Amino acid sequence: MTRTPHPASQAAELQRRLRAAYPDAACALDHRDPFQLVVATILSAQCTDARVNLVTPALFARFPDAAALASARQEELESLIRPTGFFHNKARNLLGLGQALMARHGGRVPADPAALAALPGVGQKTANVVLANAFGVPALAVDTHIFRVARRLGLSKAPTPEKVEGDLCRIFPRDAWIELHHQLIFHGRRTCGARRPDCAACPLLDLCPTGLGKFKDPHLGIRFQPQDPAPAPPPASRVPAGTGPRRIVSLVPSVTELLAQWGLATRLAGRTRYCLEPPWIRATVPAVGGTKDPDLDRIRALAPDLVILEKEENPRSAAEALTRLGIPWIALEVRTLVGAAAELRRLGAAVGAPAAGEARAAALEARLQRASSRRGPRTLALIWRDPWMSAGPDTYLGDLVRQGGLTPIGPDGYATLEEAALEALEPQLVLLPTEPYRFTARHAAELQRRLPGARVHRLDGRALTWYLSRTEEGLDLLEHLASSGAP
Ligand code: SF4
Repeated sequence: MTRTPHPASQAAELQRRLRAAYPDAACALDHRDPFQLVVATILSAQCTDARVNLVTPALFARFPDAAALASARQEELESLIRPTGFFHNKARNLLGLGQALMARHGGRVPADPAALAALPGVGQKTANVVLANAFGVPALAVDTHIFRVARRLGLSKAPTPEKVEGDLCRIFPRDAWIELHHQLIFHGRRTCGARRPDCAACPLLDLCPTGLGKFKDPHLGIRFQPQDPAPAPPPASRVPAGTGPRRIVSLVPSVTELLAQWGLATRLAGRTRYCLEPPWIRATVPAVGGTKDPDLDRIRALAPDLVILEKEENPRSAAEALTRLGIPWIALEVRTLVGAAAELRRLGAAVGAPAAGEARAAALEARLQRASSRRGPRTLALIWRDPWMSAGPDTYLGDLVRQGGLTPIGPDGYATLEEAALEALEPQLVLLPTEPYRFTARHAAELQRRLPGARVHRLDGRALTWYLSRTEEGLDLLEHLASSGAP
């Protein structure tokens, strides 16, 4: 008996999470009818769907139906499908498919599982794909992604795709099979990759014994480091009344957090994989790539009515691509704390929460007015190591240091520094934020030995670099440092 029982409630929760994470999950093979789908599915063996989609337009233009395919010359078929690999075999199967469809089914693809599976090059798995996607017949074909993901999630311990399929069909209700098939494939491709599953950003982490390190990964044979599962979302979201975009994609981690602080989390349709706060966002909002390499296909599939970018955080090319796709976007620019107040208002207006933006901006401005004009020790903020890199006086972090009562030093912008330049700057205070580089206590001790005339402090990186959502927290931290007499 290979089945691993999985409680029905757990299965329902998995479905809910997968639905939220992959709302665009669908058959990735371009097709217009059952004939095109069965041909594309045969070509997809040992080949990516994207590559099949490059080949099929010319193939279907030349051979639009079973009758045309039945009389094809094998050499011509081979040259048309060559990029999909194993083209001798696939061409033979396509030719046989056309002839069998003409001889047994009047040129039409049958909707009967046994008749489908008996066609050349089809078999059980292809038959299930065609039944589900062309005829809407509940089926759950297990491919390499589903096989891996199902076993990692503990849904099955079975050693073959056929047995895993049996386990999944027992666990999940029949009317969920088609949707689940696509969702598990998307999950395997986008998050639970064969060699490097992204467990930290996985919306299923707290439901996954492999990701939690409870047992060895059945695919790689190693035990993963236990991860902290994201806590559950709060029971009720505070969505303010009013208008504004309803499907927001945020490509800025601190803005994602800010929108949740404003009670707008339910309007988030997408985030980057670095948008990890509040933690439960991982389980409820799908990731769309990174901040520097957002996945535009995934963003487009989410049909957002607003994408939020920041000029330093995200590449200009992302904004240009969004324009070409006709997707509305806003690009923030946060270089100073006065600028942060202005951007809070602009963001509040853009997301339909002007009162929240105004309140936060006014509080920040009031605080800046009260800030001491005293200039404390010469402070160098380092943000990277190997090579050393600093955040200069003209950056957001530089201004946070200044407004916190310290004196930012170093070259403008984000400059790399030789060891000698570090010493030549003669800092009195060196800040090592724990983000974006993970400075450790050991790094701080090393630097302290190299710069004996300075005090080296390792500080919460999010407080120092997550503008807008944590600006006040960063100010608290630096004001405390300034008033505590450091160095
Ligand atoms: S937690 Fe990791 S192993 Fe488990 S499903 Fe997610 S990505 Fe895969």
